[in-house]
Amino acid sequence: MKKLAYERPIINKLNTGMPNKFGMKTEYLPITHIDEVSVKEIIEKHGSPVYVLSEKNIRATYRKAKKSFTTRYPKVQFAWSYKTNYLNAVCRVFHQEGSWAEVVSGFEYNKAIANGISGDHIIFNGPDKSVSYLTTAINNGSLIHIDNYDELYTIIDLTEKLEKTPKVAIRVNMDTGIFPQWSRFGFNYDNGEAWDALNRILINGNLELVGLHAHIGTYILTATAYTVAGTKLADLATRVKEKYNYVIQYIDFGGGFASKNTLIGAYLPGTDTCPTFDDYAEAITSSIINSNIKPEDFPTIILESGRALIDDAGYILGTVLANKRLADGSRSMVINVGVNLLFTSFWYEHKITPAQKFSPYTEHTSVYGPLCMNIDVIRKSADLPIMKKGDNFVISRVGAYNMTQWMQFITLRPRIVMIDPGGKVHVIREAETNKDFDLFEKIPDYLTKIN
Ligand SMILES: *Cc1c(COP(=O)(O)O)cnc(C)c1O
Repeated sequence: MKKLAYERPIINKLNTGMPNKFGMKTEYLPITHIDEVSVKEIIEKHGSPVYVLSEKNIRATYRKAKKSFTTRYPKVQFAWSYKTNYLNAVCRVFHQEGSWAEVVSGFEYNKAIANGISGDHIIFNGPDKSVSYLTTAINNGSLIHIDNYDELYTIIDLTEKLEKTPKVAIRVNMDTGIFPQWSRFGFNYDNGEAWDALNRILINGNLELVGLHAHIGTYILTATAYTVAGTKLADLATRVKEKYNYVIQYIDFGGGFASKNTLIGAYLPGTDTCPTFDDYAEAITSSIINSNIKPEDFPTIILESGRALIDDAGYILGTVLANKRLADGSRSMVINVGVNLLFTSFWYEHKITPAQKFSPYTEHTSVYGPLCMNIDVIRKSADLPIMKKGDNFVISRVGAYNMTQWMQFITLRPRIVMIDPGGKVHVIREAETNKDFDLFEKIPDYLTKIN
């Protein structure tokens, strides 16, 4: 190889203000349309703020993720993580694409059934499964992922009463080299607890052990953590085969794939740092194909990816309420979208883009929501061009968790619309009204008159 010529290092002075570390201006093209539908028209028709979902994006992202796995491994099944976004229209798009349902509560279980998913295609996770929902799940042949010993013994007790053989898996937690280690869910691999639980299930004989499950965390930026998880789960499957001559049908890798959002404090944007579906698929499938599991016993790989499949499809459109200078002279902007609607702004630096033409000059700006509380901060400091009162903006990548973790605090939740692949806009959740809330409240007789 030819020796490279020495080049002396150069230190460039960065001008503060106008350019920023990602360059300037180019980052700031207005977003005037989503899937060719005018942002302004959506706001005129459906109000501000308003959430928008792109069905085209959901389907394309799902297909991309699926292809990454199916090109590498013969048996793959996705199960839509309801808690990430359980709007019925969204769930049905995933179900149409072939996803099963992954639920973590009785409420979500009922939603999956109402969305037309058959019981045996529902994965029932989480630490809170009441006896009544366990009974339903057992009767429906759902896949029950056991979280702890108390739950295991409750299920064993129920099998005797119901005279049914529940289909169960255990959730396993483990050290995969990432921090923090989630050890509060499931049985620990490293201290032998998971192996102990498997033995108890297999010697019992009244439970059908169908799978092994791990959900190692969320927004995992190190794809190889899944290789560690898969290797440990494959080890359990191999030991079960050796000791009991029993083949486990599936290994469920949970969710946790990062979306392209940028974490608060991250130096580089998420679009540059987040692994691709191919990276995750490579890490996961190699852990199984290189394990001691024989090819004829290869388990189905189940994936419960949530945020990575829906974040990019979601937008919230809103309006600037005011601009002001803070006491220290810095610029701030008040918008009509607060943490009530954008819970994820507690950990993401959401991208806010004007929906109309603007001057190219940007300034560090604190972006506040409309709630009367100090923690209502959408961006602590964002490089933004001036937007005037009444101007509109688009916040991108908000499809995951915001429409489930939203808060009903001092105001009502807005409409949610979905743009279908043909460009037609459908209301998929109505805006709330005061009347809706009055439905739940009761006024004791002696308070009906206040004077
Ligand atoms: C939340 C959750 C998921 C989805 O996680 P993402 O990080 O959104 O992919 C999948 N499985 C289980 C058990 C979960 O609790």
